[in-house]
Amino acid sequence: MSLFFSPDRPNGNDVDLKRVYDAIVVGSGAAGGMAAHVLTSHGMKVLLLEAGKKLNINKELKSMEWPYDHPRRGDIPPDTHALNRNEYNFRPRPYAKGMPYSHVYNYVEGWNSADYSKNIVVDEKDNPYTGTSYAWVRARCLGGKTNIWGRLALRLSDYDFKAKSHDGYGEDWPISYQDLAPYYDKVDLYLGISGHKENLPYLPDSIFQRAIRLTKSETMLRESLAKMGRVLTPYRAGVTTDGVKNKYRSRCFGRGACERRTGGCDIHAAFDSPTGLIYPALDTGNLTLRTNATAYEITVDPDSGRARGVAFIDTDTGKAYEARGKAVVVAASTLESARLLLLSKSKTYPNGIGNSSSHVGHNFCEHLMGPGVTGIVKDLVGKARTLDDGRPGGFYVPRFRNLKERNPNFIRAYGFEGSSGNTMFPQSAFWAKGFGSSYKKQVRDYAGAFIDMGGFGEVLARYENYVDIDPEVKDKWGVPALRFHYKFGDNEKKMAADMSDAARDMFEQAGIEIVEVKHQVQTEGWSIHELGTARMGTDPKTSVLNQFQQSHDVKNLLVVDGSSHVSASCHNPTWTIMALAWRSCDHLADQLRKGEI
Ligand SMILES: Cc1cc2nc3c(=O)[nH]c(=O)nc-3n(C[C@H](O)[C@H](O)[C@H](O)COP(=O)(O)OP(=O)(O)OC[C@H]3O[C@@H](n4cnc5c(N)ncnc54)[C@H](O)[C@@H]3O)c2cc1C
Ligand code: SF4
Repeated sequence: MSLFFSPDRPNGNDVDLKRVYDAIVVGSGAAGGMAAHVLTSHGMKVLLLEAGKKLNINKELKSMEWPYDHPRRGDIPPDTHALNRNEYNFRPRPYAKGMPYSHVYNYVEGWNSADYSKNIVVDEKDNPYTGTSYAWVRARCLGGKTNIWGRLALRLSDYDFKAKSHDGYGEDWPISYQDLAPYYDKVDLYLGISGHKENLPYLPDSIFQRAIRLTKSETMLRESLAKMGRVLTPYRAGVTTDGVKNKYRSRCFGRGACERRTGGCDIHAAFDSPTGLIYPALDTGNLTLRTNATAYEITVDPDSGRARGVAFIDTDTGKAYEARGKAVVVAASTLESARLLLLSKSKTYPNGIGNSSSHVGHNFCEHLMGPGVTGIVKDLVGKARTLDDGRPGGFYVPRFRNLKERNPNFIRAYGFEGSSGNTMFPQSAFWAKGFGSSYKKQVRDYAGAFIDMGGFGEVLARYENYVDIDPEVKDKWGVPALRFHYKFGDNEKKMAADMSDAARDMFEQAGIEIVEVKHQVQTEGWSIHELGTARMGTDPKTSVLNQFQQSHDVKNLLVVDGSSHVSASCHNPTWTIMALAWRSCDHLADQLRKGEI
């Protein structure tokens, strides 16, 4: 039984509705967890509202359970369903409406061993959304998506923060790498990150712990890419390989569960917000945690125009309450935060709180996925098995487009995530033909020879890509649903074509035999890296937040998740989300202390 799971008090401490907290944080994922950690470490009295349950997470994940000990080798129950690519593209929205299953989940639950994460993600039946096709992956429980995230932890650079200055498109961020670097350092040291220094100006190094070992084929590809002036580096994992000072977490023992599951680590070597941030914050005595509490409105003091508190629904009883705070820190994840701001309409803010610019919900951006390559390293066929299972990640090939030279077809860039080697379930089993002993021999012979990688490309932030509130559809609790107006554009299509060509070229130059080149772009949303619906900026007419993620309109309102990002870059966002939240909450604590808020 986990230390913080109590069947008697499943929703945590009770909220004191008469009290004015120093800050109310909405959402307990990477952003909200970090806000709670930083503010409580400054001695602030914080209320954390989380819409989902507090799960006994180790019991959910059971990271050491073998496939044969599970009745369906880890698959979700047959009366439930995970949405697939075709359904996302062709079914009318809301996707789960009218489906004959007891529960409907996002596409990730279609992966191997998704039964271990089915209680972490939302049931699409209870949480509908409408509009253009979008594969929206949401987690509703303490810690949000960090319970199952892929952990690739990358820094952004001034190629990202000052991208407009580089190519003229969009807006520069109101900060530069120098502003954020000390906070990236703090996140590295507090949470632990594994990786290898490469000294690349476009992918700054972290303060790394022991790197993940590359396999033979990855080392071979690294050497070949070096001749092309490109880099292959061990997966930069938000995983502590040497350990951190945190009694709730262990260092990584390379047990292989990472490879076999949707995500999650029951010894919490992989960062998750509950053990990395929230439990230590609870230990300060300054945090009140309320789970099963869905915020549906940020309330306003009509006289001052400041945020007064947060109205929330108890998801078990359906009862509504209002908690009050000197500051409100929204961290419900990019799209849910936009939804909450837009839902918070009042006489003072008829357009939604913090939305005088009409930019809330807009400039929505993310990463595109799909193009990639699979190959076979011929020299490894028939070789003895090596122990390659048990790595919390494979490798990363950082961006190489639009650095010094300008690509004539598209702006911005992409990188590749990949892996190879002998894993418990060999990729060759899908590929080998035939049956019986010759099939088995083929699977064994080729098991360690496969290598693949897939691209993650920057989707440009565009005002016309946005979300708003659906006028009719509501969720199970009567809260109006989000409606999408979002499509990839021409730059993304041209970038995707280049991703496949470049991937093939890199494998061919390394002498890797091509098995498949993937050209098809996945449905919007597939990357699970939604960003940019309440962007930062210096101009209150074209941005929602200032450089400290503080609303231009409402000084005591902050939005500290990916919605504040000005552009998507091509680097996975979570480490940046946490570094920014740390910086902003330091600033907020300072302002609270000085009585400026
Ligand atoms: C399978 C998978 C793989 C991923 N891989 C990577 C990766 O390799 N690298 C990377 O950088 N990122 C990755 N991500 C994305 C990463 O998980 C997110 O960037 C990160 O979790 C965002 O943090 P967040 O706090 O904004 O949102 P979340 O982690 O989603 O947390 C938001 C929380 O807010 C709660 N909430 C929502 N609405 C309300 C409300 N109205 N009231 C109260 N609470 C609310 C939710 O229940 C949730 O707990 C991955 C995600 C998944 C699912
Ligand atoms: S490989 Fe490491 S990070 Fe992954 S589940 Fe095992 S111990 Fe956790």
